[in-house]
Amino acid sequence: MLRRNFCSTLLAAGAASRMARSQITPQQPPSAGVFLELSNPGRPHQGKVLLAVQAHSDDIPLMAAGTVAKLIEEGYTGYLVRASNDDMGDAPGLGTIGTIGEHVLGNQRDTDEVSRVLGCKSHFDLNYNNHRMGDVSLNELIGRFIFLIRLVQADTVVCWDPWGHDEENPDHYTVAKAVEAAGWMAGRAHDFAEHFAAGLKPKSIQDKYYFARRPEITRVVDISRQVDKRVDAIRANVAKGPGGHSGSRLRAELAKRNQRLPLLGDDDITADRNYIKEFDLTHSRELGKQYGVEFAEAFHYIPAGAAGADFDPRIDAYVKQHAVPAK
Ligand SMILES: [Zn+2]
Repeated sequence: MLRRNFCSTLLAAGAASRMARSQITPQQPPSAGVFLELSNPGRPHQGKVLLAVQAHSDDIPLMAAGTVAKLIEEGYTGYLVRASNDDMGDAPGLGTIGTIGEHVLGNQRDTDEVSRVLGCKSHFDLNYNNHRMGDVSLNELIGRFIFLIRLVQADTVVCWDPWGHDEENPDHYTVAKAVEAAGWMAGRAHDFAEHFAAGLKPKSIQDKYYFARRPEITRVVDISRQVDKRVDAIRANVAKGPGGHSGSRLRAELAKRNQRLPLLGDDDITADRNYIKEFDLTHSRELGKQYGVEFAEAFHYIPAGAAGADFDPRIDAYVKQHAVPAK
């Protein structure tokens, strides 16, 4: 029994590391067209609002937690949105084994903690069934995101890439498509106009950080200063894994065999954190090395004024720079 438990733990560790790689390994090599967004010790984004949107409790932690934490540290007021209720749990060997109901409650609590760790002001759960968002009305979802964008007056989104390749999970691409449309429609006067009668104001999303398994990478963000927050966001995903309490579980299994790994330290929190840093941040470390920083995250970044926007802020910038007194 002991041996089987120990082996299953090691198998789980292997599965966790495979899952982490499959979720966070963009396939593109670094290229000259990629912008490296470095850390800014000041608060250049003071007054701006960030909407970090995920389908599931582990999406932002595994893909973009360092960037969300960085943008909030640099002045953004952050809000976290989770579209599904995570009732399907996750792959065998990851996270906490449980019933569908236990998955819902566990992931709800874990999301509360992810929001806290990343410094978000608040978070919203839209409560769609996990893996079943393929037939959710796109217009319903767009309407809900328009409401949220107007409510918090969001300037920037971090979300799954609606144009990412090799995506298997219907929740990811459904949420991404809805967010992209909502970011544009939320700024218009005739879409969902009843919102204005309720006191909301139009607001367009300006720029977008899209993450995906195989995105078109146009921006790499240095998250070296925020890596501990990313580790704690992954650690908060106890129900789903792959981080959660995997390190302390492995440490306990080894102790039963009178063994220990120096990596896992002398207490459970250290074991969880060091396990995540060693096994779940492999790609972030390797990506950072390619760009000369310690840890990084990759995005398909859509800047303000990109095609499709109603208002191009570059025009104001051009007028400011080139306007001369009238004769
Ligand atoms: Zn997901």
